[in-house]
Amino acid sequence: RVVVVGSINVDSVVRVEAHPAPGETVLGLDVELLPGGKGANLAAGAAAAGADVLLIGRVGDDDLGRRYVERLAEHGVDVSAIAVDADRPTGQAFITVAASGENSIIVVAGANGGIEADAAARAIPDDAAVVVSQLELAPAVAEAVLRRGRALGALTVLNASPVSPAASALLELADVVIVNEHEWVALGSPADACVTLGAAGARWGGVDAASGPVDVVDTTGAGDAFAGALVAALAAGASRADALTAAVAAGARATTYAGAQPWGFGA
Ligand code: ADP
Repeated sequence: RVVVVGSINVDSVVRVEAHPAPGETVLGLDVELLPGGKGANLAAGAAAAGADVLLIGRVGDDDLGRRYVERLAEHGVDVSAIAVDADRPTGQAFITVAASGENSIIVVAGANGGIEADAAARAIPDDAAVVVSQLELAPAVAEAVLRRGRALGALTVLNASPVSPAASALLELADVVIVNEHEWVALGSPADACVTLGAAGARWGGVDAASGPVDVVDTTGAGDAFAGALVAALAAGASRADALTAAVAAGARATTYAGAQPWGFGA
């Protein structure tokens, strides 16, 4: 099965005419609570693509966390390894979107910050066939997770997002590195990375996959949906080319609804 270690955040998205300047108050047009966090998005994307997925993560002992875990389970994610943190709230992102389309985002790690490297690695079951990490967690967590995946003989996957200087040291622990173009350049353009190219699709080694035309509503989480579908296809034994085609289609689909997953918590 696919084992994802990653972040779980609830996104509060507020539309505004223009972002407030420091010290200024503006009226928001509306507010939406949406599922987010790269780990949860990727796990949900892999489950939607048919994979058997275990998500290792952490939420707060609060209503948001409970609702999110329930919904992830409804969407086919094994939530039995999501721990509840007694001291920290569920991770949240506060996103304002101006009429110009420009975002400004504050992420509060909350319970995600309580994920410890050793505990996360120990929580990965022996039967993991694919082990996936992103970088919304501490680099030491990603490292321990990838090392444990290697020790188990699993396919190790790093979605090196958000990219940081620490990511370079993790590349050698990953059999598959998934990045967008910006992250790819930041990592020194590694030759064998699987690179997403926005509306142009994706490239992996010598293989290209084009993205079909879609009515784009919101590109948030497109990269996570891409990565989820890619790991699901690889877990099912698909070739690189077939996995890439499936991933590009999933990424494109994820741009056609608001938020990172095809559902919301309501206002
Ligand atoms: P990220 O969201 O991580 O920056 P990309 O923008 O490269 O990553 O998008 C990831 C994937 O989502 C792409 O490979 C593609 O499949 C899909 N995608 C993103 N933007 C568009 C778009 N404007 N039209 C069609 N597909 C898109």
